[in-house]
Amino acid sequence: MKAPAFDHVKPDSLDEVLRLLQAHGDRARLLAGGQTLLATLNMRLSEPALLIDLNGLEALRGLQRVGDRLRIGALCTHAQIEASPLVAELAPLLSLAAPHIAHRAIRNRGTFGGSIAYGDPAAEWPACLLALEGEVLLRGPRGERRVAARDFFTDLYTTQRADDEVLVACELPIRRPGEQVVFDELARRHGDYAIVGLALAAELHGGRIARPRLALLGVGSVPVRAPAAEAVLDGRVLDEALVATAVAALRAELQPHADLVNSAATKRHLAGVLAQRALRRLPELAAQAAA
Ligand code: FAD
Repeated sequence: MKAPAFDHVKPDSLDEVLRLLQAHGDRARLLAGGQTLLATLNMRLSEPALLIDLNGLEALRGLQRVGDRLRIGALCTHAQIEASPLVAELAPLLSLAAPHIAHRAIRNRGTFGGSIAYGDPAAEWPACLLALEGEVLLRGPRGERRVAARDFFTDLYTTQRADDEVLVACELPIRRPGEQVVFDELARRHGDYAIVGLALAAELHGGRIARPRLALLGVGSVPVRAPAAEAVLDGRVLDEALVATAVAALRAELQPHADLVNSAATKRHLAGVLAQRALRRLPELAAQAAA
């Protein structure tokens, strides 16, 4: 199918974008990489009269270290993040997750900000942002505000972003000493959306696990943390018995939704498989980092 007719504007200032958003209300949509929006237009799931193209805004580009945080401009593409040595050093979880997003052609155009703003619970970036306890920076007519990732995703494809706000960037705390990260997901074919995925960040000190953060994708209407499993792990020696207890706690606390192919029970089982694999890898990763 073809998209309905729409007007297209490409402002070169954020103030102009905000003015247009106010003037056109829900008849306008922001356009970033277009890898989701244009598909929904072609399927006529959405019929905006105006696309406000963000790609003229230099302020939304760039990856940079700001103190003890990594700032990711909303227009950074998945491919730029995948290839960035700065990201590999400061937020390696993102480097591990990026190759799982769709295919190269989509990663070349799709943006970090677009993925976070869209809030797909099966997408990789929202789960990573949650595991790393990042923040979303929004700019609107009332000024700029920051929203913690844990509060940002509120329901299926629904976030704290108001219709008149632009997501300008995200910020993540940089990797702490001793922090190890694992990203893994299960998909029917490489490039498909995951059935279930897991982003794990944790510190290992003398065999003890500290600050474990497990975020899962594909198990609900938003990406979710696993507080019960995290509580089981935190401060304890990471051995096989602890891994088994944590996996049991994770399976007990998840309330996955079935999708067209996979039952809730399958998703719960697969989430446990991913957690078990990821936790078992931590000691090896810590040993490699120390060598
Ligand atoms: P757009 O399509 O331009 O916009 C998406 C939505 O976000 C729109 O509502 C738009 O108005 C809004 N928006 C965009 N930028 C901003 C902003 N800065 N501020 C406020 N609102 C904004 N994604 C995955 O995570 N994993 C996958 O496995 C995956 N597989 C895919 C497979 C296919 C075949 C396709 C076509 C897409 C796939 N995607 C996948 C989606 C892809 O990652 C998109 O690039 C991403 O979801 C949206 O980013 P975008 O820049 O393309 O946003």
